[in-house]
Amino acid sequence: MAGSTGQLADLVAQARRYGVRDEAVLAAIGTVPRQSFVPRRLASAAFDDGPLPIGEGQTISQPAMVAMMAEAAQLRPDDRVLEVGAGSGYGALVLRALAGRVVTIERRPGLAGKARAALAGQGLGDVEVVVGDGTLGWPTEAPYDAIVVTAAGPEPPPPLLEQLAPGGRLVMPVGEQHNTQFLMRYTRTATTHVQDDGDPAPEEEYRSERLTAVRFVPLIGAHGFGPRR
Ligand code: SAH
Repeated sequence: MAGSTGQLADLVAQARRYGVRDEAVLAAIGTVPRQSFVPRRLASAAFDDGPLPIGEGQTISQPAMVAMMAEAAQLRPDDRVLEVGAGSGYGALVLRALAGRVVTIERRPGLAGKARAALAGQGLGDVEVVVGDGTLGWPTEAPYDAIVVTAAGPEPPPPLLEQLAPGGRLVMPVGEQHNTQFLMRYTRTATTHVQDDGDPAPEEEYRSERLTAVRFVPLIGAHGFGPRR
């Protein structure tokens, strides 16, 4: 639809205003039909650069934020990516436009079902939506070149750090619930050193970078916030 192409261009312009420079990311934002991932009654707001309710108290992220996270993940076409927090499925499709394989995990089965249905109608519909606690990662397809978490947790979940490939990036909002949070990037830098007994011991290191202040819904799970908090 020519109309929606023009409106998606508004989202691209917003992402640029937020400082996103990666042309592949901007092209993905200009291509993925956000209107297919919001409730029908909100379709006219799909091209506003803001979060929108998708049911069960959750939101589809602000497009400029999806773009910033995708850029921060430094994706290459063959990358294997895990998204934590499928929500509407929109962010997963943006990631799929940039990487070779995307698995997205959602703790709410109702949202996962809707995300699966919305993704099935799309050209790059081979995104896998699984149900579970994403703070435990998804070991079946690990290791990942990038893991993108779309809800804010108190700290980077150890299983996610462990499921990063050497050089892999974990992009995630970290901070208190309903308070200051920062988008963080943790990059796994693997070095192997030889121990005194001659056996090689993997020595894992992570570089952490604070990218920008953000506000996200809480990450609920074993390595997130408790469901009652
Ligand atoms: N990427 C989504 C944004 C959804 S908001 C989109 O583009 O629409 C964050 C989502 O994270 C919510 O759907 C919430 O249910 C989910 N979530 C929170 N904690 C989670 C966990 N531990 N594992 C998986 N999903 C989680």
